[in-house]
Amino acid sequence: MNSELHQPVTVVKGIGDEGEKALNDMGIYTVLDLLEHIPYRYEDYRLKQLEDVKHDERVTVQGKVHSEPSLTFYGRKRSRLTVRVLVERILVTAVFFNQAYLKNKIELGGSITLTGKWDQHRQTINVSEMKMGDVTRTSELKPLYHTKGDLTTKSLQRLITNAFQQYEHHIAEIIPTSLLKQYKLPSRSQTLRLLHFPNSFEQIKHARRRMVYEEFLLFQLKMQALRKFERENSSGICHEFKPEALSMFIQSLPFPLTKAQERVVEEVIADMKSPYRMNRLLQGDVGSGKTVVAAIALYVSCLAGYQGALMVPTEILAEQHAHSLTILLSPLNIRVEILTSSIKGKQRKAILEDLKQGNINILVGTHALIQEEVDFLSLGLVITDEQHRFGVEQRRVLREKGESPDVLFMTATPIPRTLAITAFGEMDVSVIDELPAGRKQIETYWVKHNMLDRILSFVEKELQKGRQAYVICPLIEESEKLDVQNALDVHSILTHYFASKYSVGLMHGRLTSDEKEEVMRAFSTNEVNVLVSTTVVEVGVNVPNATIMVIYDAERFGLSQLHQLRGRVGRGENQSYCILLADPKSETGKERMRIMTETNDGFVLSEKDLELRGPGDFFGKKQSGMPEFKIADMIHDYRALEVARQDAVNLIQSREFWDQEEYKLLRERIEKSGVLAGEKLD
Ligand code: ADP
Ligand code: MG
Repeated sequence: MNSELHQPVTVVKGIGDEGEKALNDMGIYTVLDLLEHIPYRYEDYRLKQLEDVKHDERVTVQGKVHSEPSLTFYGRKRSRLTVRVLVERILVTAVFFNQAYLKNKIELGGSITLTGKWDQHRQTINVSEMKMGDVTRTSELKPLYHTKGDLTTKSLQRLITNAFQQYEHHIAEIIPTSLLKQYKLPSRSQTLRLLHFPNSFEQIKHARRRMVYEEFLLFQLKMQALRKFERENSSGICHEFKPEALSMFIQSLPFPLTKAQERVVEEVIADMKSPYRMNRLLQGDVGSGKTVVAAIALYVSCLAGYQGALMVPTEILAEQHAHSLTILLSPLNIRVEILTSSIKGKQRKAILEDLKQGNINILVGTHALIQEEVDFLSLGLVITDEQHRFGVEQRRVLREKGESPDVLFMTATPIPRTLAITAFGEMDVSVIDELPAGRKQIETYWVKHNMLDRILSFVEKELQKGRQAYVICPLIEESEKLDVQNALDVHSILTHYFASKYSVGLMHGRLTSDEKEEVMRAFSTNEVNVLVSTTVVEVGVNVPNATIMVIYDAERFGLSQLHQLRGRVGRGENQSYCILLADPKSETGKERMRIMTETNDGFVLSEKDLELRGPGDFFGKKQSGMPEFKIADMIHDYRALEVARQDAVNLIQSREFWDQEEYKLLRERIEKSGVLAGEKLD
């Protein structure tokens, strides 16, 4: 790399020991670090016409002093100085708080420059800076830098100016000229110059565009390089099978596949047949029918003579999937078994043994399923359902299980595309963007808690028709105990309310797995009519006769989670309802409730969720896979992200990238990040 710029910052004029320490504290070690320390904001000192300035905006104007200043004191230290100033043809009042000493500097009839906040209604400027005489034109846009310790913005600005004078001509270009031309982006040195010494906001925008693109491009190149590396270094399984057997199975399904399901099945099977290892993310809104896609892929694996594994986050879901896979596949002589941490002793031993012998074709389970003691004879495919919380690292661990099975991740939390191509940038993505025909829209209402009685009588009407209801109590993350108590309370209120007429069941995380299984069984056969539950039923559960979802304290949930919960109803042909009980205090809380009532589209919701919560929070605290960008903003700059991704895909696939001089600096950046050596991603 460019050695001049990699010298310690102390080679820049004006940086002594103290300065060096302060800079190091900010993560600035080399000349390049200093040059790349970009302002976070700019202050606008350009002269403006008052007519163009909005109320409460900061403004710099020039005018003539029109009256003698007048000074009032309040108490010992506080004062207010006012003076009338003629700006263009407008007479305004300039107010200075606690700057009494300025009184003697202001000369009647003299020309004056004021910077401050414009109060349009009172025609007043609340002055923060003033100067007698005309402004000099040089410092119109003043960059503001993050600083630490004794280092001031001013001194930092001086150091950066020095660094530029000494080293500007060493700033090397890393983006290939063809791409710069295509997007009309400035060179790297020009970009940094514009960001540190701009003359206009247009210039800043121009320069920022380049830095955003550069940041995204570097990130996406790493992801794509990782993808290429993993593909080429893991010889995957070629699943070979008779296509007729598969078409017969698909024709035997109780319903025709939707177009979207067909397309996704094709994508998945193409991956399974290929010698590369499949590494695919399947997204589909709640109820879009991902399970059957999983069933088809698992069957293909069995047809090719391999075993398949389906991993899910909860035992309830494991039971449900094992049940539906058994119904679909046992007539075809496929043996499906279930393994969770609560299956112990002899039973567990027998399952593990049969698995090793290859007598079990498909194993469904919680994460217990990829533990070391679990040995497959020949694992061909691993599917994880509802696993959107996995980070890049965890995904890598999973891929490294077994010989080299194909891997399919399924998630019902529609991940906004911007996030999907960052957090899951190294994977291929398939989307089911269509619901099975004939689904009715779920009607969603937002009501205050004091309407509870009316809600309960509405629930009762549905129960009279033979339908069922879920009532969800929020998860209190800090305390599972409080959480359970909450559910117990609601359960006893409802048991009392419905008295002997309807049976109310209870489900929460503290139940044993036998108890959970029993409650779910009773609910799915309508022996239990109302199920009070914590969010453990959030994902995947399928009881089509349930038509009402009541959510207590709905403001405590994120949009994606609310959508997941709502997705438990509307799974059959009956009209379904979702009722959000909420008294949100914050504006975003209210906004979330409104959005829920307005749309049933998971992708729209997840985009909104991302806007309201920001990318860091989107996946919850556990998520470890989200990168942080210095300048770029995934939401605001999503177009650049898309473009950079496509460019990265093309570059990584091209020969030129790997052997031409033009790409050397980019290659070095990727090599430095370690992805090609199979090291950890940061
Ligand atoms: P999810 O994508 O949320 O996991 P499921 O796989 O549980 O959705 O499917 C939801 C419901 O839709 C199930 O009852 C399933 O049998 C049904 N279903 C799936 N695909 C179709 C289809 N093509 N036509 C009709 N019903 C379907
Ligand atoms: Mg599902």
